[in-house]
Formats: sequence, structure tokens, C-alpha cells
Amino acid sequence: MLPQEVIRTKRDGGALTPAQIDAFVQGLTSGRWSDGQAAALAMAIVLRGMDGAETVALTRAMTRSGSVLDWRDAGLHGPVLDKHSTGGVGDKVSLLLAPIIAACGGVVPMISGRGLGHTGGTLDKLEALPGYQVDPPRDTLLATLREAGCAIVGASANLAPADRRLYAIRDVTATVESVPLITASILSKKLAAGLRGLVLDVKVGSGAFAPTLAQGRALAASLVRTAQGTGLPALALLTDMNRVLGRTAGNALEVREVLALLRGDAAAAADTEIGRLRELTLALAAELLFLGGCHDSAPAARAAAEAALTGGAAADRLARMVARLGGPADVLRDPQLPAAPVQRAVPAPRAGCLGAIDVRALGLAVVALGGGRSRPGAAVDPRVGLSAVLAPGAAVRAGDPLAVVHAGSPADAELAVHAVAAAMPVADARPPQTPLLLDIVRG
Ligand code: URA
Repeated sequence: MLPQEVIRTKRDGGALTPAQIDAFVQGLTSGRWSDGQAAALAMAIVLRGMDGAETVALTRAMTRSGSVLDWRDAGLHGPVLDKHSTGGVGDKVSLLLAPIIAACGGVVPMISGRGLGHTGGTLDKLEALPGYQVDPPRDTLLATLREAGCAIVGASANLAPADRRLYAIRDVTATVESVPLITASILSKKLAAGLRGLVLDVKVGSGAFAPTLAQGRALAASLVRTAQGTGLPALALLTDMNRVLGRTAGNALEVREVLALLRGDAAAAADTEIGRLRELTLALAAELLFLGGCHDSAPAARAAAEAALTGGAAADRLARMVARLGGPADVLRDPQLPAAPVQRAVPAPRAGCLGAIDVRALGLAVVALGGGRSRPGAAVDPRVGLSAVLAPGAAVRAGDPLAVVHAGSPADAELAVHAVAAAMPVADARPPQTPLLLDIVRG
């Protein structure tokens, strides 16, 4: 089948057949389609869209473009479950949710990613722990899943390779922003990981890739319907990203916050923003445990997740996972996390209330400090970021800290203090407060 004929069909607004979609995906994997042809079809899809059947066919074909993990003979003790977030600032939910699910009877081989744009990545956070291996050999991965019930690792090169090539092309041809292409990209990697249940956290707000609720709803509906169309039980929570999740953004700082919550430290337990992180984690965990059949009702699943978090079972699972994957032997008590040499508070310019935050700008400030990448493959500085970040509506006096910058040098700190101050304006009136959970999309 000629690539140009497939491109012409979509260019003219037609629906692609499963055979045309298979030809495209095989052409991506084999190299038979050039970058230019793939980009032309991607652009036609951005402009013309895809219907539900096409999106399912694309997702299926991209899943089959590489190996699909099969856990049936792996000796695992529960259903294989996972969660995906569309990305935010300070989003450390995966580090809490995976061990909670493991402690409640699920098994979580979580294939995670690195930071993208202004958002942080779970692998970068875990690599703040000295020795933690994100690409263990298969034997170690299986042993970790059997012992801890969860293993947060990176994707191997053969997992959905068509997506890997297409994503790189989309990234440089202004064709990322397409609901069907994003759907197939996210779900192909999850389906290739051999899941039995998936909960999606679709972020909405100034720190999310979907700034408006309407955009978030469209993405959530496409993700859930397509997952269900491929036979994967899934649902999505639409959640607020108009503030940093928790009090920290930056790799080692976020791991420290997670450990405080898992240990039940009094300061973390009393903090309202860490309370939001806890609430979101438990809401996602409850839905996933119910979806995966680990509990008969959502309230029972919620109670089990809460007990695993407060009773220490989740902390134990995380500690086992980290130790098995080469990280510190006692991560709860001795995490060996590096600290930045320079810390500077960002002073409130005047008394008032913290207004609406430009959360994306906060994420970019962390990237500029070295906590994310400006070039693919570059190393990140695990020490840097923000802590004690205030939430919109917080009352401040002149000079009170809006956040604390952690930097590698005084010059970096100076730049970040200015960027953070600009992103966190002090106003006279409290801005409207957005609820944490905006909606649930069940398909
Ligand atoms: N994340 C992905 O994995 N793919 C996309 O297309 C967008 C976000």
C-alpha cells in the first residue's frame, strides 16, 4: 500500500481502514515510511481528526509494533494494574500509588517516563535515590514484582517502537496536540505492558497540558473509550493542576515529601497541600483497586488503600522495591538523597493573598535550575527545585516566603527567585478555589 495514498485519504477527510493504519504503523517500525510521510499523515490527523474506530485501530497497531509483555507465567500474586498521569508539576502520585496498590493485592509493573516540557518525570525522581536502577534485567524486574508487588521502571526499546519514532517526529513537526495521536501514544505503551486495569489522571489547569476542563474532558473520554475498545478496563479522573501538588517540585525534594507521607511524619500529616496529594492518591488507588477486582466496592477499596498508607504497609512495599532495584537499603530512614548547596526564600512583595499561580512557569523554573532537560538525554540535577510552595489563596505578610528555591549556585537561585515571584502574584482578594477532583469519566 502506497504511503501517499494513505496520506491522501486522511488529507481529504476520509476515515482510514484498519489495513491502512497497519501499513502506516508497520512503515514506521520498518523505516519504509520516511519521516516526511509520517509527519504528513500526523498533520492530516491533527487537522482532520480520527473517529473512535480509527483511534482503537491505531492504538492496537502501535501496541503490536513491539513486544507485548505477558505476565501469565510470571508467578505474580494479583492482577496487573497501572495508572497514568498526563503530567503536572509536583506530581509524585506514582511513588505513593504503586506501593499502595501492591499492599492491597495488585501488582504494578509501572513503565514510567522522564520529564516532558515543564512537567517532572517519575524516573528522574527515583534516580535521585543513589543506585536506583530504572532499567533492570528481566529477572530482577520479576523478583521485584514478586517481593514488593511493584516495580517502577523505564520502557525497554522494544516496547511500542512505532510510538517512539512517531513521537520524535511529532515533537518537531507541531503535531503533538491531537487527541487521537496522544491517546494512541499513551495507551499503546500501557497495553504493551500487559495490564488488566488502568486508571488515568487527566490534569487540568495552568500546570497541565490541558489548560481547560473542556480539553481535559475530550482527552479523558478518548483515552477511556479507546482503552475500553481494546479490551482494557479503564477510567479517568479529571483533577486540578492550578497549584503544585503537595509542597515540592524537583526530584529529590519530591521523594523526600513522599517518604514523609509514607512514614506518617506529623508535619506532613497536618499539611493541607500534602493532604491534597494524599487525597488524590487515595482516590486513584480506590478506583484502580475496584476496577482490578481487588475489592468488591469502591468504599472497601478506599478503606484498604487508606489502611495501607497509614498502617505502614505501603511504606514497606516502597522500601522493598527501592532496595531490590539497587537503591538505599533502608530508604525510609536513610534515603541518602542529595541536597542543593543554595537555598533562598522567595519573599512576598506585600501583604495580601496569593493569587492564581502560573504553575507551568514554576515547572519551567525547576527545569531552568537543572531539575529537567533542555536537550534530549541531558543529565538532570536531582538536588534542585522548590519546597514550601504556597497554594492560591494563602494569606501572606510582606516578606513571608512564597516558596523556597533550592539551587546549585547563587546565580541560578537568583534567576529562579525572580521567575517564581513572577509566577506567584500577591493579590487583594482570594482567587476562586478549584476543587481537587473535577470529574470522573467512566466511558
Ligand atoms: N505522552 C505520551 O506518551 N504521548 C503523547 O503523545 C503525549 C504525552
